[in-house]
Amino acid sequence: MGKIAIIGGGVAGGSAGLYLSSLGIDVTLFEQNTSLVSGPPFCHLHAGGNLYREIPDSECITLLHQSIDLLRFYPYGIDYRPTVVITPIEDEEDPKDLLPRLKKLQEEYRKSIEKDPKNKVLGEVEEYFKLYEKEDLIRLQEKEIVKRPTTLEQWMIPVAKNVDLDLVKFPFIVVQEYGLNLFRLSGGLNLQLENITNCNLLLNTKVTNVSKKDEKFFVTYINNQEEKTEEFDYLINSAGYKTGIIDDYLGYKRDRLVEFKAAYVTKWEECDTIWPEVIFHGKRGTPRGMGQFTPYPDRHFQLHGMTKDITLFDDGLVKSSQKSSYPELSKKFREKIDKSWCPKEVEERTKRAISHLSKYIPSFSTAKVAGKPLFGAQQIPGKDKELRAADVSFEGDRYARCEVVKASSVLDMIDEVMKKLIKLGLADEQELYRRDFDFVELDSNLVLKQAKRICQDRDYPTSLASINTTK
Ligand SMILES: Cc1cc2nc3c(=O)[nH]c(=O)nc-3n(C[C@H](O)[C@H](O)[C@H](O)COP(=O)(O)OP(=O)(O)OC[C@H]3O[C@@H](n4cnc5c(N)ncnc54)[C@H](O)[C@@H]3O)c2cc1C
Repeated sequence: MGKIAIIGGGVAGGSAGLYLSSLGIDVTLFEQNTSLVSGPPFCHLHAGGNLYREIPDSECITLLHQSIDLLRFYPYGIDYRPTVVITPIEDEEDPKDLLPRLKKLQEEYRKSIEKDPKNKVLGEVEEYFKLYEKEDLIRLQEKEIVKRPTTLEQWMIPVAKNVDLDLVKFPFIVVQEYGLNLFRLSGGLNLQLENITNCNLLLNTKVTNVSKKDEKFFVTYINNQEEKTEEFDYLINSAGYKTGIIDDYLGYKRDRLVEFKAAYVTKWEECDTIWPEVIFHGKRGTPRGMGQFTPYPDRHFQLHGMTKDITLFDDGLVKSSQKSSYPELSKKFREKIDKSWCPKEVEERTKRAISHLSKYIPSFSTAKVAGKPLFGAQQIPGKDKELRAADVSFEGDRYARCEVVKASSVLDMIDEVMKKLIKLGLADEQELYRRDFDFVELDSNLVLKQAKRICQDRDYPTSLASINTTK
């Protein structure tokens, strides 16, 4: 049996490590940080790509299938609540233009359940999406808030009561895109990989060089202040936005983009119920860029605003060059990642995010800053900054470069790596496209405990790890 090295324990490398080692493959996972999944954040399972009007339908369909796979792989990482998609009046587009795509996605979901009934993880096909006209919302304004909503209509009540209906177009679209909880996914993955015998998990371990001779890779790393070099038969580069550094060690040329972005953590004391996620569409990079309102328990909300002074940054998007496959962010971003943010900037950007969202949800204007942002740099392979469904590329048969843009792409990524491993005799053909694993059933209390510990270690409110859904 061959030995596989994985560099980087984000959702890409960590998932590959779990999948491959559970098949009995000998894996060593190198992660420079103290825990897994500590890179750029995620909060949304893009089960249909309905946050992205600008991407082709085919990409949305890919995201739907990938999200179903991810949900089955990480059931404990899901916040089961729908997403409401709203188009402001000042936006040029008509929400009805999204209907043909939504119908296609619904049909794809139906087909995927026909193929495998276990894929029914987004509720009933008929309820994959639903439309709410103005009169429906006015009717819902009269209803009592339901503390533990179980129907789409009940989820819509706080939206109907709080969104300014004079500033938006109709219908509202509710879609079964759920939350993806960074901290519980990280907690569960850490618990699993610490206990699996075939995975040599090396945390606090930085890879400082990689070289190749014949069919072997030599990985040099620092662990416990000691430098070591080990030999491997296969290398998975899943170093996130630093994937290009590993490419450079080996002289592999590759176009890629890296983008720094941030989301903001707020607390809304006056809030009296749990919310669905709410999206206000808008053109990315303009002052009216999309607003994303992501609920957590205990009145916490995470906010994105796709404008240059909230989630996006001037010079926050960089690209690789002829000289290097590693797009290097400027010092101000590297300092944010490696050290800290200036408190004044946290305050200013979070307040801007609150006012961006409270334009449409006026009662939200009383929300307060509740901690440091969730932020990071993410890689986008190639040159298209709008690309959302991406997974893996190869150099020869023994080097996989795993570059997911969305967390949901990891199972497709693993399938492609498996094809190479099977070709090399390092994995069993019968395991290709495997989606059923006993290990996904974890003790939810243990996951939650671990997730809260990770929140504390990373200095975030522990509410961000908690479950506020009805499932
Ligand atoms: C603000 C923001 C919001 C986002 N929201 C979403 C969302 O809602 N849904 C979604 O699906 N996606 C979202 N994304 C994208 C998502 O965060 C990324 O796609 C995903 O985290 C990438 O995972 P990864 O494993 O490829 O990389 P990473 O998480 O960056 O993992 C790479 C790992 O490699 C390690 N590493 C690097 N170099 C070395 C080395 N030399 N030695 C050892 N270890 C090394 C790093 O420490 C890191 O842990 C968002 C991104 C941002 C920035």
